[in-house]
Amino acid sequence: MPGVNVPDGTDVTIIGGGIMGAATAYFLAAESDRDVLLLEKDQIASGSTGDSSAIIRHHYGDKEVYSKTARWSHEFYREFDAELGESIAYEPNPMVRYGGQGDEASQAFAMSGYDTLEAMDIPVSRLEREELEERYPMLDFDGIEFGVSDDDAAYSDGTDVAGGFARAAQNEGATVVTGVAVEDIVVEDGAVAAVETDAKTVATDDVVVTAGPWTPRLLSQVGVEVPIETTREQILILDPPEDFVSAYPDLVPSGGPPGEGWYMRPDFGEGVLVATHHRGETVDPDAYSDNPDQDAILRMVDDLDDFVPDLAAADIKGQYCGIYSSTPDHDFVIDQVGPDGCYTGCGFSGHGFKHGPAVGKLLRDLVVDGDTDLVDVEYFSLDRFEDNPEGYAGEVERI
Ligand SMILES: Cc1cc2nc3c(=O)[nH]c(=O)nc-3n(C[C@H](O)[C@H](O)[C@H](O)COP(=O)(O)OP(=O)(O)OC[C@H]3O[C@@H](n4cnc5c(N)ncnc54)[C@H](O)[C@@H]3O)c2cc1C
Repeated sequence: MPGVNVPDGTDVTIIGGGIMGAATAYFLAAESDRDVLLLEKDQIASGSTGDSSAIIRHHYGDKEVYSKTARWSHEFYREFDAELGESIAYEPNPMVRYGGQGDEASQAFAMSGYDTLEAMDIPVSRLEREELEERYPMLDFDGIEFGVSDDDAAYSDGTDVAGGFARAAQNEGATVVTGVAVEDIVVEDGAVAAVETDAKTVATDDVVVTAGPWTPRLLSQVGVEVPIETTREQILILDPPEDFVSAYPDLVPSGGPPGEGWYMRPDFGEGVLVATHHRGETVDPDAYSDNPDQDAILRMVDDLDDFVPDLAAADIKGQYCGIYSSTPDHDFVIDQVGPDGCYTGCGFSGHGFKHGPAVGKLLRDLVVDGDTDLVDVEYFSLDRFEDNPEGYAGEVERI
């Protein structure tokens, strides 16, 4: 991909080669006759996507729209290799949402997801405390009343998927250019006319801004304000002791205790990934430390020791940080915004990976057809913040 010449003009320019931009490029190239250009300032998946824990689950409480896009995307992931000719890392692993003892909010959230998934025929089960203890003897369920298991959950890898989509987009005729940054979006007579890059100006009819944490800056150039906070989350990869691995070959279920602000999942290569969730401080995506803080490490290890006591002896074999781009309600923005021909998919609030294929398809449908029959895309519109700066508000930290 590097070294491909930037064209003088195209029909649609996509800014940002994370999972959302790469998926959009793929669907536009495969399912329309438009000329498609994907511009990535660094490398494919060098933003949030490359740091993603890439958990694929369907439980979203009663927010059925996300269960729908998650299921659609999960079916796509299962066929990724067969359909796109690109293999991706993929490992089934249930994710459990816990109802805490006396914690009505966590119980209600867990059960609302149970009801939604059951009604949608997505495999789900409720496990009482004794059943949890039997199935997951490595966990300490002190303070937990029951769990709702998203039985068909899985995890994958962001770099694999974004790279696979970008290569498949190229195979479908898209031009993918890395190492070229968009500096400005040029608007003439109320419509997108071009993008100025650090290499040259490219005439374009449409632009799709999928620039992750950098999206607010780009969109503000065309007068669009998206309320996104960029925060730094911290991740550890643990090396479990050998007797843990031999006693529990599946390691751990994905998820974490209710309300604690962290989760875990097995990692490829017999590791256990532990990460903060919406616990990070606001940072500049161009200037943040990629090394977890010592106190955050100690707190995570402490939290984990309570929940998975046998992992107290685990070594740390990897650590890094990644950026969440969160809206006030943690709901996505997928919309036509500002001048004619300008679209965005942003504000994925730490849970976008599992919806990547559906987001690419939705953006393709908006650009080409102006609407979609996949889900009610109106749910993701930016103007919800006009009436209420908090958007939908509600139980934001749980999704
Ligand atoms: C630590 C962590 C764990 C996560 N875990 C999960 C999970 O388990 N499950 C889940 O569903 N989601 C998860 N997520 C969320 C998910 O990874 C993100 O929602 C998703 O990756 C966002 O993708 P994106 O394409 O919007 O953004 P990004 O991946 O950030 O891509 C944006 C791209 O745009 C490029 N760019 C920016 N500005 C320009 C410019 N001016 N010109 C050209 N290119 C530009 C950047 O270089 C970057 O590559 C996690 C996120 C993080 C950080």
